[in-house]
Amino acid sequence: MAYKFIDNYRERGARKKLVSFLRDERKIESEDVLKAIEKVPRHYFFDETFWNQAYRDIAFPIGEGQTISQPYTVAYQTQLLHISPGEKVLEIGTGSGYQTCVLLELKAQVYTIERQEKLYERAKLFLNKMNYKAEFFLGDGSRGIPQHAPYDKILVTAGAPFVPEDLLKQLKIGGICVIPVGDEKSQKMITVLRVNEHDYEKIELDTFRFVPLVGDKAW
Ligand code: SAM
Repeated sequence: MAYKFIDNYRERGARKKLVSFLRDERKIESEDVLKAIEKVPRHYFFDETFWNQAYRDIAFPIGEGQTISQPYTVAYQTQLLHISPGEKVLEIGTGSGYQTCVLLELKAQVYTIERQEKLYERAKLFLNKMNYKAEFFLGDGSRGIPQHAPYDKILVTAGAPFVPEDLLKQLKIGGICVIPVGDEKSQKMITVLRVNEHDYEKIELDTFRFVPLVGDKAW
């Protein structure tokens, strides 16, 4: 994909419209999250031929059988994380790197892992060119990244068959994990709060459809 960093009134206007849609129609309430979405040029993650698709509320193919998540899904998951500036966030499933940029706009310190080498290489190169600074890892994120644990927040951007215990163990006390769990066709969004050393509080929310989390502690 050729990188073209042009963000003019047309793209900025489309982004504003998308943010209004997420606020008014999809009922995203966090103004911090909406501001972050308004800052990230989502069309940079698309080939120029498809720029007209970039601000529609849809997922879109990014190669390797994967997708850039739908803006609503990104907003929904990010809102559930309740990120404060400086928090350490583990993202599992870098994909295009778009969600990573939204987390960085919220001033999180982001560790992101992707199992597909081409996507990992592309996102790392691309975010660097855009001057977004995250720590990139190649591998199976279903085990987390224990060497950098504990994390304030863990975000899984692919559908898991269950909540991997390895991930929960890598949360700080008071930390939150957001993960879609279900079968291949649909998943419930789950938030898990680590209450203390041994206890976790789990809440089941809305239904989504993600690409599968593939790995040792996954599909
Ligand atoms: N958040 C991404 C974005 O904004 O583009 C979208 C992620 S896409 C829906 C899910 C990603 O998770 C895919 O790129 C897929 O290769 C990756 N993935 C699946 N299983 C994984 C695993 N065990 N570890 C790391 N990444 C994984």
